[in-house]
Amino acid sequence: MWLDNEEKALSNLKKRISLCSRGITMPEKSNSTLHFQSNVGFAGPQGTSCYVGNAPGDHSNQISLSIFPKDHYLAQYALSTEWYENNDQDESGKKEKILCVKNGTYLKRVPINWKGTLSDGRKSNILSKKRFHAYGTFCMGNYWYCRHIQQNEGCKYCTINLSIEKLNLSKWMRDKDNLNYLKLAVSQNSIRSVTLTSGTFESPERTGRELLSLARQIREETGLSVHVQIEPVFDRSLLKELSEVADSIAIFLEFFDENVRKKICPGKARVNSQEDYRKCWEMAVSYFGWGKVVTSNIIGFDEDYDVILKGVERAAKIGVVSTIQWLRVGNPILGNMVPSYIGKQDEVLELHQEMGKILVENSVDNISFKNSGCLGCLGCQATREAVKWARIASVKIKSKLFRQLSRPNYAQPGL
Ligand code: SF4
Repeated sequence: MWLDNEEKALSNLKKRISLCSRGITMPEKSNSTLHFQSNVGFAGPQGTSCYVGNAPGDHSNQISLSIFPKDHYLAQYALSTEWYENNDQDESGKKEKILCVKNGTYLKRVPINWKGTLSDGRKSNILSKKRFHAYGTFCMGNYWYCRHIQQNEGCKYCTINLSIEKLNLSKWMRDKDNLNYLKLAVSQNSIRSVTLTSGTFESPERTGRELLSLARQIREETGLSVHVQIEPVFDRSLLKELSEVADSIAIFLEFFDENVRKKICPGKARVNSQEDYRKCWEMAVSYFGWGKVVTSNIIGFDEDYDVILKGVERAAKIGVVSTIQWLRVGNPILGNMVPSYIGKQDEVLELHQEMGKILVENSVDNISFKNSGCLGCLGCQATREAVKWARIASVKIKSKLFRQLSRPNYAQPGL
């Protein structure tokens, strides 16, 4: 039974890693696709929310998946798909359209309902679509730019400003408009929680105060839970007030490997050392609680996986959850860079397994959907699957040890 469950968990983890790291291409003769991240950017995952399962019609899990047009430079690495003929009909009486990936995974896009116009005329499907993340998570931000980009020190993978510059939109989104978006979304969809993010303007403290005010309004007007994301702040009262309206917080270091961090995030690395992050995480844990503070490590830049795991462990020991994020391509600075994890499936699997074990051993493995925003979603990663595997594996290791220790020692004379 254990073996069955462990094998199943391992197989799910492997499938998840291959989907997240390589994305998919659509079958021949499908409608043309757009790689959102390369075109409209934003700061979230690069994909489209899909149900994912081992059988057609299995809607218990979701994934935010990159779908590459055939002419995208990463399409050659993506998993190919074909249409699966399902006789079941959807609510509108049409035959269900299910994608089958050749590794035995079935996918179906999570439907998004979006009808209506906002008072400021912003009703573009592109802008609204990017807000619907996996597992009913709605993503909102109030500043679609960043102090680091302004100073030519932006993170080299970040595409927060792409749509703003392409469509000549305002960098600021007023609270009123954000709330209108959210209310429209809630009226037509099943929204579970809100992730509140923003490019940093002026200072992280000022940004945090603006997000605090928006989070308060969201709680008051919709009752939804909120997950907030900021750069390190050292104002205890701000963290305390944030913890009163948000259930979890992300303070993303981005890379535990300092060489990569300095090269890829020059601005963030210049203003805050890893020690600054540790101090802020500790403060945040004291208000939000153990396992409610999140950081991430992006992979794809040929980083040292041992260094990442040491960082994951240091963070876990003070109550911080680490997640592995896949490189978001689309920023012109990266050009046609192929992420280093492509072709390293075994090492990437081991990285996830080891990370999963560390999270479980340090009790920072709460993967409940009841968590707010990204922490309750984990839709663009393989963290939930890594934890599920590690929970089974660590029970097995402990039980084996227990059996060895409690076995009578017949070799000892006189017993
Ligand atoms: S974890 Fe979920 S909500 Fe957060 S960025 Fe990924 S898909 Fe979006």
